[in-house]
Amino acid sequence: MFGKILIANRGEIALRIQRACREMGIKTVAVHSTADADAKYVRLADESVCIGPAQSNLSYLNIPAIISAAEVTDAEAIHPGYGFLSENADFAERVERSGFTFIGPRAESIRLMGDKVSAKQAMRDAGVPCVPGSDGALPEDPQEIIRIARQIGYPVIIKAAGGGGGRGMRVVRTEAALLTSVNMTKEEARVAFGNPTVYMEKFLENPRHIEIQVLSDNFQNAVYLGERDCSMQRRNQKVLEEAPAFGIPRKLIDRLGSRCVEACRRIGYRGAGTFEFLYENGEFYFIEMNTRVQVEHPVTEMITGVDIVREQIRIAAGERLSVRQRDIVIQGHAIECRINAEDPFTFVPSPGRVTAWHLPGGPGIRVDTHVFAGYTVPPYYDSMIGKIIVHGDTREQAIARMRVALSELAVEGIKTNTKLHRELLADERFFQGGTSIHYLEEKLRARAAARR
Ligand code: ADP
Repeated sequence: MFGKILIANRGEIALRIQRACREMGIKTVAVHSTADADAKYVRLADESVCIGPAQSNLSYLNIPAIISAAEVTDAEAIHPGYGFLSENADFAERVERSGFTFIGPRAESIRLMGDKVSAKQAMRDAGVPCVPGSDGALPEDPQEIIRIARQIGYPVIIKAAGGGGGRGMRVVRTEAALLTSVNMTKEEARVAFGNPTVYMEKFLENPRHIEIQVLSDNFQNAVYLGERDCSMQRRNQKVLEEAPAFGIPRKLIDRLGSRCVEACRRIGYRGAGTFEFLYENGEFYFIEMNTRVQVEHPVTEMITGVDIVREQIRIAAGERLSVRQRDIVIQGHAIECRINAEDPFTFVPSPGRVTAWHLPGGPGIRVDTHVFAGYTVPPYYDSMIGKIIVHGDTREQAIARMRVALSELAVEGIKTNTKLHRELLADERFFQGGTSIHYLEEKLRARAAARR
């Protein structure tokens, strides 16, 4: 096992990884920007290194600074967390070439899955069902593009091969709008992702977002840890997640999970990963794979008892998975609410000093956050400042516990989206379960209209 791990991230996930390391008796190195120098997890780490100024391109995305921090502290491995460099194949490669272990998949797997066009191709080859669409990148010829769209049938969605974070997508409902939309998405993709390649998919009108968590070691052992339902989204970004997914027959999930595991073996995948699907009318359609730990991993941990970060570290250290598929039993129901420092109505970020911070507790409650009273939320990074995760024997109990937890949460000094979560937890349609990826946006539109 490693003696020392450098955590190349910040905020709640840096603390989450640090906790796993400390529990395993592994020393930690926290790297941080000047804006995060006073964070508590930085002081809790065995060592810390400032890697640059607040702007992330000069600190958390600064590959040479991170690698030299690993060199001066004699760390053996680097955990990238999520976001930042976690899905950067060049980073993984440079970490390994500098003699450190990258806690994640091989660079070639990141590259394969990071390009959504090659990822879809690989999944199709592995027998994983995909959204019907263009077989690969869209061609240049406008007549060809029109032909492909007709064949798929409107509405279609144009997506950037290099896209992520809910960006680089455009829905097209009519042929008249097609070519302009393709060109606009291409141009945006070129600027945002440095890759103008776009592809086309059938736009599913009312799907749910269902994803499968996998773990795969270096010995051809791979397991799936059930599914998560992440349909509650705003601007293609997840707001609330739960596991298991309400109302989907276990048989369907097991079949899909087995295909994902098979795909892992085929591509020689190593580490934790998530296969994302849209689910509509009883069918699953692969959209993309995330080759890292995800924000919402705790809901899976709560229902399976498997510590995903610990497994990531064990796999990277060359150990075998500590669980086999038959050991994995889904127990109860878990829900996660992402707490963001933002206005609950306008969603404008609300950085600043947290003057009061009271967290919920009690049976089945887990809070993952690096925030404390007196902490200042810097304006430079993602607005997510923590996650409340609850577990109950049933979905009803989990909802009841989340309602109590949200009523106990008290934050002063900054605005948070807690009010939105409280409304969601009181929402009749959410309570019934199985809402689509458009539900939250529809609810928000109705809410905005009612306030006018
Ligand atoms: P990203 O990498 O930016 O997260 P994804 O491909 O995972 O992009 O898609 C993000 C979200 O966009 C999905 O969860 C879903 O809400 C929506 N979406 C993507 N593809 C489609 C599609 N073919 N039909 C309908 N919605 C889609």
